[in-house]
Amino acid sequence: MLKLAKLIVDRMLMPIDSLICARWIIPVVPDGAIFEHHAVAVSGGKIIDILPQTEALANYQAVTVEHLPQHALIPGFVNAHTHAAMSLLRGIADDLPLMEWLGNHIWPLERQWVSESFVRDGTDLAIAEMLRSGITCFNDMYFFPEITAQQVSKCGMRASIGLILIDFPSAWAGSADEYLTKGLALCDELRHEPLLSTVFAPHAPYTVSIDTLKKMRILAEELDRPVHTHLYETQGEIEQCLQRYGMRPLKLLQQLELTGPSLIAVHMTQVNDGEIQAFAESGGHIVHCPESNLKLASGFCPLAKLLAAGVNVGLGTDGAASNNDLNILSEMRTAALLAKGVSQRADAVPATVALRMATLNGARALGLEAEIGSLEVGKSADMTAIRLDAIETQPLYNPVSQIVYAADREQVSDVWVAGRPLLKARQLTALDLADIRQRAAHWQNKLAPPKNLAGS
Ligand SMILES: [Zn+2]
Repeated sequence: MLKLAKLIVDRMLMPIDSLICARWIIPVVPDGAIFEHHAVAVSGGKIIDILPQTEALANYQAVTVEHLPQHALIPGFVNAHTHAAMSLLRGIADDLPLMEWLGNHIWPLERQWVSESFVRDGTDLAIAEMLRSGITCFNDMYFFPEITAQQVSKCGMRASIGLILIDFPSAWAGSADEYLTKGLALCDELRHEPLLSTVFAPHAPYTVSIDTLKKMRILAEELDRPVHTHLYETQGEIEQCLQRYGMRPLKLLQQLELTGPSLIAVHMTQVNDGEIQAFAESGGHIVHCPESNLKLASGFCPLAKLLAAGVNVGLGTDGAASNNDLNILSEMRTAALLAKGVSQRADAVPATVALRMATLNGARALGLEAEIGSLEVGKSADMTAIRLDAIETQPLYNPVSQIVYAADREQVSDVWVAGRPLLKARQLTALDLADIRQRAAHWQNKLAPPKNLAGS
């Protein structure tokens, strides 16, 4: 009889892949919601339900059930601007302004060393760091983007791959036309990859010619792809544009018909009030990289004004050579604190807004908001769990406050992309840290050979 009763009960349970039960679920949508003692039900890589744990355990027969009793479960962080492979240049040239840093250090090093293996090893290093920081999706801009795509696919992460364009020849392409041709081939190759999307990625208006930008605009329109570019990073960039074209960079992009909902403008530290209004009306997106801007002394992005004008602003780390880490938790905190300081208003960017910038706003900028950025039924199960029982996050009145203002990335415990666990209790499931460390050491020796003290 008991067996029969159990059979009947089992038959009533819906079979699914996994149930993740967490102390707090912070879905980002609805705005400000915090569900306590709830569970996320996942099947086929998608979120199919979010409900109280008792109901979840009564309704679903999951292959795996995770209990995270001290954790907050949030949407995976979206790093909306980075140059992953540049992690191999972390700390090689610090404390310099942007143009000196780029012109005298980074570009010469890249000319000498960037290759398929550099990008493969640098991307793996960056992916390991990003997953351990709770990032599930990144928007990249670098040479050999097909290698970046390949490494992302190998480990099951999600990325938006930039089809880079720059007027300088590199080991990847010798001319602007070759950059475009190779980019188009990659766009075509990746079009059926479920975790990869592509964006056109002209480096900046000061490094890509008008002719190339015009050609790219036609292609971006035809293929319906966003355009991801550095814009208004420094005052010097504006002066150069005024000298060269007699107008500010945003005006130039307007004339080239590159402003609009497809534009992802990174940095925007020099944008003025009139331009903020015009940018908001265009429906363009901004990626704010506060720590990179601070380190290179580029200026302050007027975040509070941009948000008040209704501009969608996501967060990015930029590359590890100008940051020097790929830590969105830290970018959230810096963005919120900096906005308060710059606007002299303590309520300028509350913690819930900072969390939305690091998740949903980034997804929206990349055109991925239907798939990721919040924990909602029908979206992909890209999720991050953060342990909040550390002494550093006690007492706990509000989990969002703890995540934005107090938690460190060492508290990120688990990460899933499309329901697949890529970080489990801080262990990477698809990457070998010892191997990544060894390859980083190999490049360190190549780029900066150890000095032979005994022989000197
Ligand atoms: Zn950048």
